[in-house]
Amino acid sequence: MTTSSLLEEAASISKQFDVSKDRLIAISNEFIRLTDLGLKSDGMPMAMIPSFVTGVPNGTEKGTFLAVDLGGTNFRVCSIHLNGDGTFDLLQTKSVIPRSLMVGTSKELFSFLAKKVDEFIKTHLDEKFNEEGGHAANEHIYKLGFTFSFPVNQTAINSGTLIRWTKGFDVADAVGKDVCQLLQDELNLLKLPVHVAALVNDTVGTLMSRSYSSPGEAATLVGVILGTGTNGAYAESLAAVEKLDKSASALADKSIMVINTEWGSFDNNMKVLPTTTWDDAVDLETPNPGYQMFEKRVSGMFLGEILRRILLELYEKGHMFSKASTPLTTAWSLDTSILSRVEADTTPDLVAVKSIVETDLGLPTTLIERQAIKVIVEGVGKRSALLAGAVIGGILVHTKACQSNPVVDIGVDGSVFEFYPGYEDLMREALKDVLGENEKKVRIGIAKDGSGVGAALCALVA
Ligand code: ADP
Ligand code: MG
Repeated sequence: MTTSSLLEEAASISKQFDVSKDRLIAISNEFIRLTDLGLKSDGMPMAMIPSFVTGVPNGTEKGTFLAVDLGGTNFRVCSIHLNGDGTFDLLQTKSVIPRSLMVGTSKELFSFLAKKVDEFIKTHLDEKFNEEGGHAANEHIYKLGFTFSFPVNQTAINSGTLIRWTKGFDVADAVGKDVCQLLQDELNLLKLPVHVAALVNDTVGTLMSRSYSSPGEAATLVGVILGTGTNGAYAESLAAVEKLDKSASALADKSIMVINTEWGSFDNNMKVLPTTTWDDAVDLETPNPGYQMFEKRVSGMFLGEILRRILLELYEKGHMFSKASTPLTTAWSLDTSILSRVEADTTPDLVAVKSIVETDLGLPTTLIERQAIKVIVEGVGKRSALLAGAVIGGILVHTKACQSNPVVDIGVDGSVFEFYPGYEDLMREALKDVLGENEKKVRIGIAKDGSGVGAALCALVA
């Protein structure tokens, strides 16, 4: 293939990832429609799960808590001390979840998690609490916030049954069970002095943690995850959550409820979402084809695989690379961080792209091939950010947040947002299309250590 035609083909591939202003507005409108439906009744396409969190913090909260986070690539255990002035001290350990446990039994998975909590307490806390309290560590009961970032049917602040797994997990016997109880049982078997006090979705935790630490008076109104998966939570007026029985005493005199949208499954029937042949191919490789269709176009688990599919097709057509390599032909072998590193390379010879493709794909490249890769990456990355911006815009239109607040604060957690160059600016392009001038009122900030601090804040209000 001639060099100019490879670049033309790359441009035409990239163009298939364009999302027009009209399309972004249509996406936002459809999101609002599904939001309304999900607030009215259960079993709707977008779950709109009440979190039973009825207030957002203002930074004066205090105390020491344990938190664990199961939601993607890693399992984290941490202890958090909230200082009461918007700051906190955090101690954390992180372990990779063995693939076999992601598709095994609930007993195997949850006993692994409990063991990690045990190790954390033995290594980091026993001594400290012995010193502080002057009594044996096991007389102290730690309140634990459990960040569990899969769709659950939450029935109270510390109980919820698993609806389905996402993001490559498939522990069949856990579906329908109370995940807090599964964890509590394993903690009890190890005789750990820990009470699972709150079940927290990471997106709710992100909202809480950003609200605790965000500068100034403005409460945070939306929490967003852009990591392995994607999801959003926001503060909704309690009265608007029509499907919720509000007679429970815990809800008396409350005015807001944080809602976990589960927007990963927004528009599964593909009414407004854009698609390409590569998206369709990636979808078929997943354990849940036809589900999480929004997530599959936006989050870190999928962007690398979309790119791999495109490059593989160009190779198979004989348009690119003189040979194949194992990473190119193996599903899920390209990490989304590659897109960030390619996007960040602004050198004329694309020297970083050269070394990335050499190390990560094991392939030599010509300059034209590198230019083609860059153009394709830009298309895939930009579409992710625009789609994320469009649904955030949808939430703000729905809540009329820009009409009633001088500053609308949004907290975001996740490596895709944090590390993809220019991601926020691209998100803002879509926000402008949806909100017009009001986009200027939106302040977007990273919720650092969001899930741990957020879980602690939920354990505190529990
Ligand atoms: P988790 O989702 O487990 O909480 P992260 O927020 O770190 O963890 O997200 C992990 C996802 O982000 C993975 O899918 C990974 O491919 C992707 N990722 C990691 N580093 C980067 C990066 N530099 N740029 C873009 N995506 C990244
Ligand atoms: Mg996370």
